[in-house]
Formats: sequence, structure tokens, C-alpha cells
Amino acid sequence: MSVAGRLAAVRSTLPEGVTLVAVSKFHPVEALREAYDAGQRIFAESRVQELLPKTQAMPADVCWHFIGHLQRNKAKMVVGCADLIESVDSLALLALIDRLAAERGIVQRVLLEAHVAAEEAKSGFDPAELLGWFAGGGYRELRATHICGIMGMATNTDDAARIDADFAALATLLRDIHAAAPDLRGCDILSMGMSHDYPAAIAHGATHVRVGTAIFGERQ
Ligand SMILES: *Cc1c(COP(=O)(O)O)cnc(C)c1O
Repeated sequence: MSVAGRLAAVRSTLPEGVTLVAVSKFHPVEALREAYDAGQRIFAESRVQELLPKTQAMPADVCWHFIGHLQRNKAKMVVGCADLIESVDSLALLALIDRLAAERGIVQRVLLEAHVAAEEAKSGFDPAELLGWFAGGGYRELRATHICGIMGMATNTDDAARIDADFAALATLLRDIHAAAPDLRGCDILSMGMSHDYPAAIAHGATHVRVGTAIFGERQ
């Protein structure tokens, strides 16, 4: 099936109000172009060296999300280039993004990545630590960063109960953040769910799903 055909098939499964982020990492610009021509405007990349050329090659009205681990020495290239950095996984990175955005005179939109999966290898904040940081008002020190919500991944497993528990934990974390930081505004994005598990994520309240393989096919 074509990219346009698979995109339409994925779209047909999404309830109103759920935003589709097309994860285009490792796919050539031609594939992104096909999705663009079929109406897709939000794309996500996980590597800086891939994000930059693709932003040049694609039309200016594309909204770019960055979803990979962002090394601090590359943050400068992503701030102001990505419309939403979904994968902020440490306070040091958050502070750096804030400083870079302030220097450039922009407001950088970010999500904080929370780690709920069983795998040690996955990155992200420990939910309890993150909650403590919000309760302590740490976010009030940010000058040029807008925390728009949280991002997470479920354990990579066939165990549906474990996947459900992970998505439930992410949804609970966002609610707990709202309770801990009642003055927080516009922090409502819950980005979770990938090709193999996004229906479960939606059932648990995902506002954004990040779908790659189901749209573009297997990565090279
Ligand atoms: C690659 C990736 C996805 C998309 O995965 P698919 O299984 O191809 O849908 C989603 N989120 C993140 C953070 C990724 O790195």
C-alpha cells in the first residue's frame, strides 16, 4: 500500500481530537512528501542530522517534533528549529533549552519525557521525581520554555496488561502534575502510543500518537 493509503487507514482509526504525529525518521524526503501531499503536517524526527536537512527540504508549513535523545552539545541546533521538543529527559537539558531559547528571543515548546516502561534502557524522568519538581515550583524559573505536557512510551511487550498499566501511569502522572502545580497553564499534551500500541494509548487519554511504521513501512 502507498504512504497515502496507509496514512488514510491510520487516520480512520483516530477519534476526533487525537493528533497524529507522523514519525518519519530514517525515511527519505520523498516519503514525507507523499504524506504531506495527503494532508499530513506534523512530522517527527529523532536525530538532529536528519531533522535539519528535512526541514530545509520540506515546505515551511510543516510542524516538526523532535523525539530522540537530545545531546546537550546539539541542543542549540534544535531549539527554534523544532516546534515541539518532545523528549526533554533531564533538568539540565531543560535549563539549557531555556537559556538557548531566551538568547534567541523565542519561546520553545517542550514536553517532558517520563519513564514508566520496564526497560532500563529507555530514557526519561522518574515520575515521582518529576512530580516533586512540579510541586516545588521549579517550572516557575523557566523564562523562555513552555512545558506543553508529557511524553512517554509503554514497555515493548506483547503483554497487553503491562502496556495498559504503563499508559495509565502516564495519564495519572499528567493529572498529578496538574494537581501539584495548579497555576500551570497549557500543559495538556499527553503524547503516547506508537504503531503497535496506539489504540491502547488512546483508550487511556493520549492527545497525540506518534506513528511511524504503520504509515511509512519498515525503517531502513
Ligand atoms: C520511532 C519512534 C516512534 C514510532 O515508532 P513506530 O513503531 O515506527 O510507530 C514513536 N516514538 C518514538 C519516541 C520513537 O522513537
